Amino acid sequence: MLKVEDLNVFYGDIQVLHEVSIEVREGEIVAILGVNAAGKTTLLNTIAGLTKKWNGTMTWMGQPLHRVPAFRRVEMGIVLVPEGRQLFPFMTVLENLELGAYSKAARREKERSLEFVFQLLPKLYERRHQLAGSLSGGEQQMVAIGRGLMAKPKLLMLDEPTLGLAPKIVHDVFQLIQDIRKSGVTILLVEQNMHQSLQVADRGYVLENGRVTISGSSEALLRNPTIREAYLGI
Ligand code: ATP
Repeated sequence: MLKVEDLNVFYGDIQVLHEVSIEVREGEIVAILGVNAAGKTTLLNTIAGLTKKWNGTMTWMGQPLHRVPAFRRVEMGIVLVPEGRQLFPFMTVLENLELGAYSKAARREKERSLEFVFQLLPKLYERRHQLAGSLSGGEQQMVAIGRGLMAKPKLLMLDEPTLGLAPKIVHDVFQLIQDIRKSGVTILLVEQNMHQSLQVADRGYVLENGRVTISGSSEALLRNPTIREAYLGI
């Protein structure tokens, strides 16, 4: 579905991703793991079309993404839920959700998508007329994910969706990710929460200083001695 090969990304003269290659197949949950500043957000932003200076190859369903602008990638089904949620706090939950359906195709399907989001997240239905800024952190994260779903993604990219959330809510977010996959949406998940991510993901890539250092199935990564020692503290 998505193939990234030998990707190099630069901010000015500084290179932050080096020869990164990843693949996401339809129906998978793939995790990108690593500590702060490893380059995880940069990788998602580049796939979304939001970084300027990059080279390498990115293809989506066999089509090169080189000259495809960000809004077109959304229309093609590549949707990013950014780190920090980026909601409009003085708009209601419903208004924030509706903003996700801005492409022509998504607008046509808006009512059906809303129904789908509220079915998946009934709490958001109860709070649909409440200002987004008045929700708890966990609820705001659910709105951000719901807004992503309103864009009718084929690939939903989630940037640290559990950051700063209480353990019970973290569990709910991981459950939601599994429910979304069951509905037919492929997921590329960026997380620092390595153990729980590998419980739900099929495969993972570890990024360190802008390079993929370890990759494999979740079972293999959970058994990997370096990961166990450096990331899981076992
Ligand atoms: P975090 O979990 O902290 O978001 P990350 O793994 O997502 O970390 P990135 O945000 O991709 O990492 O950052 C990778 C490197 O690129 C860091 O050294 C960061 O300081 C740098 N960087 C990120 N955005 C910019 C930018 N807009 N301009 C210059 N440097 C940047």
